[in-house]
Amino acid sequence: MFLKGKTALVTGSTSGIGLAYAKALAAEGANIVINGFGDADDIEAERKALETLNGAKAIYSDADLTKPEKIEEMMKQAADEFGGVDILINNAGTQHVDPVEEFPVEKWDLIIALNLSAAFHTTRLAVPYMKEKGWGRIIATASAHSKAASPFKTAYVTAKHGIAGFTKTIALELAQHGITANAISPGYVWTPLVENQIPDTMKARNMSREDVIEKVLLEGQPTKEFVTPEQVAAIALFLCRDEAAQVTGANWSVDGGWTAE
Ligand code: NAD
Repeated sequence: MFLKGKTALVTGSTSGIGLAYAKALAAEGANIVINGFGDADDIEAERKALETLNGAKAIYSDADLTKPEKIEEMMKQAADEFGGVDILINNAGTQHVDPVEEFPVEKWDLIIALNLSAAFHTTRLAVPYMKEKGWGRIIATASAHSKAASPFKTAYVTAKHGIAGFTKTIALELAQHGITANAISPGYVWTPLVENQIPDTMKARNMSREDVIEKVLLEGQPTKEFVTPEQVAAIALFLCRDEAAQVTGANWSVDGGWTAE
């Protein structure tokens, strides 16, 4: 349990990749702050399950990360409970698929706020505690779309390129404070985020569900397999190890070869 005594906050961890990060970090002994939306009973069950993994503490924040004042409340909750966050995973994100001229303005604003600006707010509030301790790990779930574009995903591709740049910038700023900052860039991972974009993609491209899966989602993924949330979490776990102290400013692909093409 190499993370005993450390605290990790994972945004958007009531589902998908975020929940896999939370489980992997808890299994190594970290206290966990989970965050996100969902059924209250399900979230409470997940929170308790995290605690039974290791005997450490898990707390839940229902902060809506599109609202900076809610992010401030969440970070204060973490500071009051655990004296700050040692591992910050900027993971929460959402998607919307539409041609640029039809892209709803409120969807653009939502995606930029959640997938990009929220990471600025969590980071600016976490860094003072990390600097004080001389140790920290900041990890962003970026995406293959932080390196390559796909049509009809303007807001998402823009936000993911942005978070990759943000993460590189803080890596440089924090390089001499024992704090690393890295992005992990998955290809298609089978989670509700992917499932939920299938109907819109069927509409935008006039395709069947099967064709969207084969010809759009897995088309660019040379292995023709989805990434699993656990495979993404394993990389985050490595980045938290002392062996990864010199890995900073990197953007690690886990995309079945997508961005190698
Ligand atoms: P998911 O939909 O399963 O999980 C998203 C999480 O974010 C949930 O916990 C949800 O409650 C939370 N969330 C949504 N809106 C929120 C808000 N306003 N405030 C706080 N929390 C909010 O999605 P996922 O696939 O696990 O995605 C997680 C991250 O991984 C995202 O940043 C996504 O862009 C990225 N990603 C996913 C894939 C993929 O194929 N699934 C690929 C590359 C990158």
